[in-house]
Amino acid sequence: MRGKLDQMVSSALNSGSAVPAFTCYDFTTALAVVGAAEEAGLGVILLVAPKTASTPNGLRLIAALRGLADHASIPVSVQLDHASDLKVILESVTAGADAVLADGSSLPYEDNIALVREIRAALDTQGATDVVIEAELGGLAGDEDKAFGAEGSAHDAGTSVAGLTNPAQVADFVERTGAQLLAVAVGNVHGKYKGEPNIRWDVLQEVAAQTEVPLVLHGASGIPADQLAKAPSMNVGKVNFNTELRTGILSTLEAETAAHRADGENLQGLLARWNGSAATFAGATLELLSA
Ligand SMILES: [Zn+2]
Repeated sequence: MRGKLDQMVSSALNSGSAVPAFTCYDFTTALAVVGAAEEAGLGVILLVAPKTASTPNGLRLIAALRGLADHASIPVSVQLDHASDLKVILESVTAGADAVLADGSSLPYEDNIALVREIRAALDTQGATDVVIEAELGGLAGDEDKAFGAEGSAHDAGTSVAGLTNPAQVADFVERTGAQLLAVAVGNVHGKYKGEPNIRWDVLQEVAAQTEVPLVLHGASGIPADQLAKAPSMNVGKVNFNTELRTGILSTLEAETAAHRADGENLQGLLARWNGSAATFAGATLELLSA
């Protein structure tokens, strides 16, 4: 069924849980994620990368995910991730996205606010008042779609490092943007961590104290499970995964392709392995984040 992102996240937080979000570049992965969520009886978020959404086939994928979400037995939201291009945003929403990360995090503070407000106004004008907006404050290192080692934003406690979410800006930012969820930069990165991740839980706690709005942790691949499990206690109600899902799928395909080629070019069988890899990861993650 269609889930409203902010409500899914709030209700998860009320029970001490967070909702995982998984980037889906294709339908096989999305089927696996939704299947795992149905198995667990928990809601889930399907993320679409902006590079995917900016192509005609990407918009068709969003429409397919919309159908998948609406017919699932658990709440599913389809979110356009990290978007700043208004045209892509409006087309994605028309295609079926019900939530958007309006990402002005690389812009100066006032421009970030202006972008989020502009996106909200454009959606409202289009009649898409129900579309949930996540905004991002602070900059995340790394590439969303390709995993190369990325430095965390901060490695020394007590040192002020550009890029981390500034707790002093949080209340003002949320109020002026009207953001319904807030993505934070607290040492998390996109892609792979160089060395041990150094998540600044102290900064996260300060951010959480400044707003009622649920927080979102991007770049969760590579953060140890015991650390992720405590995220809901700091009002982190949504956690984004991408790299680990890709790693598992690619390893599976690498290991299985030759045998399936030998087995009469058995693509159906290979896709089942792909599905199995993604479903196993999604299922374990859903369990990890649920209280
Ligand atoms: Zn992200």
